[in-house]
Amino acid sequence: MAPTPKPLPDMSAEPTSAPRLVVVGGGPAGLMAAEIARAAGFEVDLYEAKGSVGRKFLIAGKGGLNLTHGEPRPAFDARYFERCEAVGRWLDDFDAAALREWARGLGVDSYVGSSGRVFPLDRKAAPLLRGWVRRLRESGVRLHVQHRCIGWDEAGALRFDTPGGELQVRGDAVVLALGGGSWPELGSDGAWQDWLAGHGVDVAPLRPSNCGFDIDWSTHFASRHAGAPLKPVIAHWHDAAGDAQSLQGECVVTASGIEGSLVYALSAALRDTIERDGHATLRLDLTPGRDLARLRRDLGRPRAGRSLSEHLRRQAGLTGAKAALLYEVLASPRREDAEQLADTIKRLPLVLRRARPLAEAISSAGGVRLEALDRDLMLDATATGLPPGVFCAGEMLDWEAPTGGYLLTACFASGRRAGLGAVAWLRRHAGKPSAASG
Ligand SMILES: Cc1cc2nc3c(=O)[nH]c(=O)nc-3n(C[C@H](O)[C@H](O)[C@H](O)COP(=O)(O)OP(=O)(O)OC[C@H]3O[C@@H](n4cnc5c(N)ncnc54)[C@H](O)[C@@H]3O)c2cc1C
Repeated sequence: MAPTPKPLPDMSAEPTSAPRLVVVGGGPAGLMAAEIARAAGFEVDLYEAKGSVGRKFLIAGKGGLNLTHGEPRPAFDARYFERCEAVGRWLDDFDAAALREWARGLGVDSYVGSSGRVFPLDRKAAPLLRGWVRRLRESGVRLHVQHRCIGWDEAGALRFDTPGGELQVRGDAVVLALGGGSWPELGSDGAWQDWLAGHGVDVAPLRPSNCGFDIDWSTHFASRHAGAPLKPVIAHWHDAAGDAQSLQGECVVTASGIEGSLVYALSAALRDTIERDGHATLRLDLTPGRDLARLRRDLGRPRAGRSLSEHLRRQAGLTGAKAALLYEVLASPRREDAEQLADTIKRLPLVLRRARPLAEAISSAGGVRLEALDRDLMLDATATGLPPGVFCAGEMLDWEAPTGGYLLTACFASGRRAGLGAVAWLRRHAGKPSAASG
């Protein structure tokens, strides 16, 4: 059971000359909150655990930086599953078009690819991040790197581990944008779960999202085919409501199972099924272009002394890892039956045992439950031991989405929402800003 939270003093009661927002976490969500508050004229200090901000954003750029998606709303909102309404409210203020316009303001034009995904023209994150950080600094946002937040002290100050020792920091409002728990080497390690839950904040444990899965491959298959792409294939699976779904795409065989964009797109449903049933069965159509009747007919033709591998190549166009999968899932006598072979090619069953660990996932599910926050993303002070004026944003919130630019879009939009919320709160509780920023 979580310890009973001890109330902390209300930071807003502390007299300060110029109202100040403290942002913790220098990813897209935190930087956006900082930008909003500074533009409204408030003092802003941003604290980041690593030696530089935006490390995960830069890594996202290695894959081409899928900034957002061209899909219109409300289909766009539906990508956030049961959180579509809440995320939709953030998008009302800052949708894909607004994000592209914002990037244009930093000199980064974007284009919609054939899949609907939106990328910067140069497909890089570094120029956008560099320009943004420069603009933030010039506007007066103070960035403090190598400051790792470890929670609040009893007097209501935020505690930071720094190279010079522990530091206590007070702000008139706080935005936490600490990220999820994937790729922890980039800074977001989910350690905040313990200290926030310790203060009575309702946190759903972080879980892998957009992740690969383990399959009990034979040693022979894994050693020969790890790294092999499976494309194109159609995945058939059942969603949370038990309805049959299918999607065409690409995946990759790994030494321990399977990963890739198609698997990531289904990962929430597959992960939840494994949690409920102990395993999930994903069925792959290995020959999307050929129908079952034709396959049965072609595979029923006499082999004329040819090996099964050669027969599969000639009659079904199957080679490499796709053909090897048939040997992996079909026992020898059944492979000789053309109908069974054809049926399996159209619905190859893969039994997924486990989601890969959170550290390897592209993103996290779970996090601070949205019910613990008001519409401005401020934590409910009455339900926690924390003072009012603490906001949360980004991937540390309890929503998930597939890849395709939906992750970054929600991080930017929630950062903006928390920033606007903090500005409104500062205006009400901490007085007027000292001077408008540039
Ligand atoms: C390989 C990879 C590729 C991706 N590609 C894409 C893509 O193309 N498109 C897309 O939409 N999404 C992509 N994502 C996801 C996207 O990068 C994240 O969803 C997004 O960066 C989350 O933003 P955030 O600001 O919430 O958190 P983060 O970007 O994780 O930033 C949080 C920051 O907080 C800091 N921090 C954490 N704890 C503390 C602490 N205690 N004290 C101080 N600072 C702390 C961290 O160091 C970090 O800098 C990708 C992710 C990965 C791993």
